[in-house]
Amino acid sequence: MQHLTLKQVVELDYCVGCGLCASQSKNGKMVDTKFGTYIPDLATFTDEEERAAEHFCPSAKVSDAEDTLAKECLPVDQLEYLDGLGYYQKTYAGYALEGDFRSQGSSAGLVNWLCAKLLEDGHVDSVLHVKEAVNDDGTMYSYQESTSVEALQTGAKSKYYPIELSGVLKLIEQAPNKKVAVVALPCFLKGLRALEKKNPTLKKQIKFHIGIVCGHLKSKNYAEFLGWQAGIEPENLRLIDYRTKLSGRPASRYGFTAIPKVGDEDSWVITPMTEVVGGNWGHGVFKLKACEYCDDVMAETADIVFGDAWLPEFVADSQGTNILNSRSLFLTELLEREAEKSNVKLIELSPERVLDSQRSGLRHRREGLSYRSARDMKKGEAFPVKRVSPGSHKLTKHRKLTYDYRETIRTTSHSSFIAAKEHKDLHVALSALAPVIQTYAKLNQTPLRNRVINKVKRIGKKLLNVRS
Ligand SMILES: Cc1cc2nc3c(=O)[nH]c(=O)nc-3n(C[C@H](O)[C@H](O)[C@H](O)COP(=O)(O)OP(=O)(O)OC[C@H]3O[C@@H](n4cnc5c(N)ncnc54)[C@H](O)[C@@H]3O)c2cc1C
Ligand code: SF4
Ligand code: SF4
Repeated sequence: MQHLTLKQVVELDYCVGCGLCASQSKNGKMVDTKFGTYIPDLATFTDEEERAAEHFCPSAKVSDAEDTLAKECLPVDQLEYLDGLGYYQKTYAGYALEGDFRSQGSSAGLVNWLCAKLLEDGHVDSVLHVKEAVNDDGTMYSYQESTSVEALQTGAKSKYYPIELSGVLKLIEQAPNKKVAVVALPCFLKGLRALEKKNPTLKKQIKFHIGIVCGHLKSKNYAEFLGWQAGIEPENLRLIDYRTKLSGRPASRYGFTAIPKVGDEDSWVITPMTEVVGGNWGHGVFKLKACEYCDDVMAETADIVFGDAWLPEFVADSQGTNILNSRSLFLTELLEREAEKSNVKLIELSPERVLDSQRSGLRHRREGLSYRSARDMKKGEAFPVKRVSPGSHKLTKHRKLTYDYRETIRTTSHSSFIAAKEHKDLHVALSALAPVIQTYAKLNQTPLRNRVINKVKRIGKKLLNVRS
């Protein structure tokens, strides 16, 4: 297997749009695709810049897998390792107690709380993270630099929206002594760690790599698709808040808020995710193709990583709970100290339990990836080389079909939405997606016999508990 050139990454749609290549190019630019994703405009790169980027592009380089990079940048001699979780020192569930970080956050506000702490205590001068865009070209969210807690708080919550790093990295390049923290998805951090090996100034500047667990990233069109289903046409949509907490409901049953360009708060539309097509994360609508070829869920090169505690013991709380894995002795100590002061709540959780919260995502990116890459190899198609070897997992016919259908949902969502916009009719997308999603759902329905057995087991367990 050959690693992909940068041209192949872009032409074969394996680009995640991180912008790292453009950040290191004098005139290199990131551009929009019609699918609502970013790619580099390689015509603006020199041949030398293109070749250099193959050493850090997360989809191009073969030798620097996450494990290799982690061994170089983390204190691995003081950490344990668990497949899927990567290296770990301490693993917890928890939430922010201080301020309104928890209510304003996606999960429980620990990411922004930690960033605020690092800023306040002078460990960093600024935080690079994702906020509402300030330009008026229709972009909703972009990477920006926050230098104060107030500025940081305007950028809370997850954005399931393409973002790229070239602008902010070029900005901090002008201040070589600046100390920064970066909040980023696993593939962005993987690329960044590899880039730091080539760029010592950047390595010196980035003091903390704060990872967020990643199921997959969606295109800009997903935002418009949600907004349109809430009754706001794409040209009238300003913003989507992807994570609106709905009180009284389990944390996993969150909603989204569609905000129109014109109108006050009364015109904002809050809709539970369960009520829209594409609200089920497992369906993977508008997913980037690169995400089908990614095996890092837990940001394995991050100093610390945060996700949602999708576990029965936490999910009932609509305020949300984080899971976290610290690979930094400094950050673990800081968190434990702050927990003693009741600024954050930390509940020790075994590494296996942390992984349990991400089982379905991990399965898609382990056995699913082994299936997809084996299939591509058979067809003689090039794909990014990852740690999961093609065909390394044995799958039933049913599982293979499940993965095939997920990909059909992905490709149908991208193409049918473009057609819907051309026809100015949302139903073009909805009617193309409905039958594929229905067939997929049927395929994954638990058979009646199993449902009855599970119910009997649950009742039996309850009775036993009552007697004891
Ligand atoms: C694309 C995506 C997919 C995800 N998939 C999963 C998943 O499958 N399982 C899971 O448990 N968790 C997933 N998460 C993480 C989860 O949604 C929360 O972001 C995480 O638990 C932190 O929550 P918090 O309340 O502590 O964050 P907050 O305190 O709300 O802070 C969030 C911080 O992240 C920054 N941010 C927001 N969006 C992005 C982005 N796209 N790229 C970089 N920085 C960003 C914000 O600017 C802010 O600083 C995903 C997040 C994203 C963005
Ligand atoms: S470095 Fe990032 S933006 Fe550039 S080609 Fe690779 S994935 Fe795409
Ligand atoms: S799934 Fe992987 S490739 Fe896709 S955005 Fe997340 S970390 Fe990046």
